[in-house]
Amino acid sequence: MPWFWEGMKSPIRTLSRRRPDQPPGVTPGRPVATALPPGATWNPGICPVEALQEDSGAIAVEFDRCVHCMRCQQPEAGVAWAYDYQWARQHTPPLPRAFQHSIHVRIIDAGDCGACLSEVRQLTGPVYSLHRFGIYVTPTPREADVLLAVGPVTAGMKAALREAYQAMPTPKRVVAVGVCALNGGIFADGFAVEGGAARVVPVDVAVGGCPPPPLAILDALQRVIGRGLARSGEVRA
Ligand code: SF4
Ligand code: SF4
Repeated sequence: MPWFWEGMKSPIRTLSRRRPDQPPGVTPGRPVATALPPGATWNPGICPVEALQEDSGAIAVEFDRCVHCMRCQQPEAGVAWAYDYQWARQHTPPLPRAFQHSIHVRIIDAGDCGACLSEVRQLTGPVYSLHRFGIYVTPTPREADVLLAVGPVTAGMKAALREAYQAMPTPKRVVAVGVCALNGGIFADGFAVEGGAARVVPVDVAVGGCPPPPLAILDALQRVIGRGLARSGEVRA
């Protein structure tokens, strides 16, 4: 746990989300779309969840499926790798500009295995220091601007997720964290799961991975309020 000891030694030092990460950094990176040399062959079976597809002479990555097994990081896979945390996909415009000062987030565990929630919890620690961005966790949806959902949405949590969303004031946004929250993940065929938050509430920002690293989740929350990445033109709202 190098991140833990770094936090203990330098409790007032937080990570810059703009600093490019280097292996073995705090984020394991991600596969990126890779052009195939003419006549080159590659093995699509390298990906256990079919997140890699050939498209117009390039290998495309479907982040809503990628579980981050890192198999395609091997050189023989022929897939390029980026050491950053920009896994989030934004489907709707960010909240109005007034929300850039501060937002409150209601976290819903809709049946996750514990790992996604663990990554989310790390954001409030000294290394990631979520609060320095004016982003706060709230126990009640009535004062929440953002609903953050993890897990495949079990049958028992379906109503709780929907009612939490309905109780939130407008405008509001939903961030789904982890492939389970996006499409059910490994639990998709389970008899007691809905198969993702999008089947219950409208998802505005999707973060793949199983689980995604804390910086990817922080990046998603920043996108919700149109900060940082929006200015650099990366948010396509
Ligand atoms: S890291 Fe993602 S894209 Fe690569 S093989 Fe694993 S699941 Fe597939
Ligand atoms: S996406 Fe992976 S880590 Fe997250 S809840 Fe599902 S199985 Fe667990």
